[in-house]
Amino acid sequence: MTTCLNCYTNFEGKFCPECGQIATTDRITLRRLFSGEFLSGLFDLDRGFWRACLELSYKPGFLCLEYIEGKRKTYVNFIGLLLVLLAIEAVLWSFAVNSPVQYMLREIQANLDANGSDITLSEEAIKSVLFNQKLLFIVAIPLAALVPWLFCRKLNFNWVEHMVVVSMLLSLNTLLGILTLGWLGLLPIEFSLYSNIYKYVSFGVVAMDFVLYWQLLSKGEYGYLKRFALSTLSGIWVILVIASSVQFAMGLLTARGMI
Ligand SMILES: [Zn+2]
Repeated sequence: MTTCLNCYTNFEGKFCPECGQIATTDRITLRRLFSGEFLSGLFDLDRGFWRACLELSYKPGFLCLEYIEGKRKTYVNFIGLLLVLLAIEAVLWSFAVNSPVQYMLREIQANLDANGSDITLSEEAIKSVLFNQKLLFIVAIPLAALVPWLFCRKLNFNWVEHMVVVSMLLSLNTLLGILTLGWLGLLPIEFSLYSNIYKYVSFGVVAMDFVLYWQLLSKGEYGYLKRFALSTLSGIWVILVIASSVQFAMGLLTARGMI
């Protein structure tokens, strides 16, 4: 007799008769990530996509817990989720009147001008930075997962499971970006208004990253103080790695002499 980790039905056999999840739901490990079963489910989006987006928007940390602890069938594959959200964001940006591309362009140009530099940035250059940054960040996920893994020991997650959390955090940030700036950018509003809203939205997105870790740490039976300290530490570290990946991408661009 097995209890389905997805829907808690008791059953015998290889697959759950209620929801179809495989009986031997393993922990997420590096080997599993490269298994045929996992990869073939990458874009098996189905209804799980909308449910994952909905739950990601208000209970990201609990979603991570449920996913890592075995509720796989209900939710979409976490890498597929991230890639689809990034694609939606890219499409929205390409139609946008105002986008983070314009925002960054003005911010960085103002900085360059203030430092007496005669470099003029192009929109294409910034687009390539933001694009490279997303790719670089995917590569930086193991680094971002390192600190939460080392410090949040009571969660009993392996390193790869912490990478799942970071990837969910990236999906969360992308989703919130789509829901706010994504459609807002399509409206023909003044850039100054967009830029003001951008600041508030960024603040909200960062706040949600901490909420994610706060919810995730509900599992460890930590005291409130320790839980607060650990979510702050994990949140700051992950955001720092994201921010550095932007700097790094910018550095790569300058080094290649594209501006
Ligand atoms: Zn089931």
